[in-house]
Amino acid sequence: MPKKPPLITCIFCGDVDVPSSGEDVFPLWLMDKLAHFAKKHHTDGSQPVYMEYQYSGVDSFQQDAQTGEFGANTASSPTLRGARPKGDKLPDVCGRCNGGWMEHLETAVRPIMTGLLEGKPKTLHPYDQLILSTWITKTCLAYDAKYETPRIPVEWGARRLYLLGFPSTGYHISIGHASDYVSDGSRVEGSAVLRGTWVGGETFLAVQFAFQFEHLIVRAILNIYESPFEQRPGIPLLMGDPHHIEIWPVRRRITWPTETALLPTRDATGVAKEAVSGAADEPPIEPVEPEPA
Ligand SMILES: [Zn+2]
Repeated sequence: MPKKPPLITCIFCGDVDVPSSGEDVFPLWLMDKLAHFAKKHHTDGSQPVYMEYQYSGVDSFQQDAQTGEFGANTASSPTLRGARPKGDKLPDVCGRCNGGWMEHLETAVRPIMTGLLEGKPKTLHPYDQLILSTWITKTCLAYDAKYETPRIPVEWGARRLYLLGFPSTGYHISIGHASDYVSDGSRVEGSAVLRGTWVGGETFLAVQFAFQFEHLIVRAILNIYESPFEQRPGIPLLMGDPHHIEIWPVRRRITWPTETALLPTRDATGVAKEAVSGAADEPPIEPVEPEPA
């Protein structure tokens, strides 16, 4: 007889004493895609060796992403996962969330992400950017919930996403294209707590996340503050780097990766090239303030 799942309080909808659904932090369809890409480099019939790189900070992640040598700046040794990546079970998600809105979100994001993983240029309308940003936010919050003490309190993170149905308007989310990357089936991840002081002396707190899946890099800064509609001065999120573009707040229609983003970041000798500015994007749409009740 299968073991009964533990009873939990769902981090998203807040239902109490419900069975855990065993939600995967990284969906299985995505892990299967990564395994598929890794196999393509093993034409001799050998199995891919799947590694995971965990970064304690996004800066060291970024350094390695630029040189293409993941593992050089990691805090711990890469984890060997064998021939197939794993999704990492998250215990505290209920069946109604997992089989409901989260499944619908996976279905919606899959056709948007599939081409981006391979780096095939794709038109992203504001709606596509919304779906992708919502998925990235969900993944970051699920990832954060794996920590013994999550850095983002549930009521300001997972529960807020559930109630809004979209990311807080003050979040900053970007996608990037890793042009030189040759996959060995790796999943790369990093996160860091940001602390800062705004003009006026007010302390601000946010958690920055970065993940790389094949050619697609996603980065998010999730601010921790009371109002989901609160706007803060923009946090530089690789602005001006043609290999990255901000998609939340959503901007007008873009084609991604741009021709510039598809150019290699290194020359033939392996030396990192200077970033060339001029991503052919359109300016962000100003977020709309909600009407006062
Ligand atoms: Zn739930």
